[in-house]
Amino acid sequence: MRITHTITELNNAINQLRTGNLNIGFVPTMGALHQGHLSLIDEAKEKTDIIITSIFVNPTQFDNKEDLVKYPNTIESDIKLLEKQAKCDILFCPNANEMYQDSISSDHYDFGGIENQMEGKFRKGHFDGVATIVKKFFEIVNPDFAFFGEKDFQQLEIVKKMVEIEKLNIQIIGCPIFREKDGLAMSSRNIRLNESQRNDAPTIYKILKQVKTKSNLESIENINKFVLEKFSQSKELELEYFEISNEKTLEKTNDFSNSRAFIAAFAGDIRLIDNIKLQ
Ligand code: AMP
Repeated sequence: MRITHTITELNNAINQLRTGNLNIGFVPTMGALHQGHLSLIDEAKEKTDIIITSIFVNPTQFDNKEDLVKYPNTIESDIKLLEKQAKCDILFCPNANEMYQDSISSDHYDFGGIENQMEGKFRKGHFDGVATIVKKFFEIVNPDFAFFGEKDFQQLEIVKKMVEIEKLNIQIIGCPIFREKDGLAMSSRNIRLNESQRNDAPTIYKILKQVKTKSNLESIENINKFVLEKFSQSKELELEYFEISNEKTLEKTNDFSNSRAFIAAFAGDIRLIDNIKLQ
């Protein structure tokens, strides 16, 4: 695996590898890599010839400075993991200067409303930051395919819309949520959970599975009540939002077809998100 830090180094590495009509698969990440990230790289390897992974903690997508400061940085072990377990050809880990030059700010996007739901409501400016950095990466890497996890389902939809708006010739592939044995969705933030928080965290997925079952039988009002009650019984988790939303508009819906249930919850100051497809 070639490790690159600058756009010039990355371009040189791509030029050396890209012969004939080999295509490029791109997996952007913020590091603190886990098997969920590796499952995206595996998926990329199935579909493409040259795999580029990036590690960059993007400051413009954090509405909360504390969260940015505390975001795990495990670059040494990330590199080891990629070299040992992933079929990644090039790692690109730029610094903020390389990505933003002298202006660390985001462009403003109109995504037709999906940016204002859920994560957009609770993390102001988050998706402008995401779209800005993903577009920058796409311009630098110029991939044929890019891989994003359904763990961040709203982000996946935002990236698809951004590609449409910017008329980029890149296919966006959504990949399933990779979970721990007890059901907890893998996340870089999980390493910050203490023992008690870690024990309670799988409750989120347990509730989502129960919601899925109930969506065949019960009204939205009953399901909302059920979720609130479950969270009130949890020792460590505090619910930020629970929504059943249409997969395309991401608006709240009473119609459970083509919908997903979404949860954001805090364990202490650690924010966890998860979702499940209904019906
Ligand atoms: P992050 O490093 O958290 O920004 O995530 C980088 C990419 O990995 C995003 O497309 C995420 O949706 C995806 N990802 C993170 N956790 C998981 C997971 N547990 N399963 C599948 N994809 C994931």
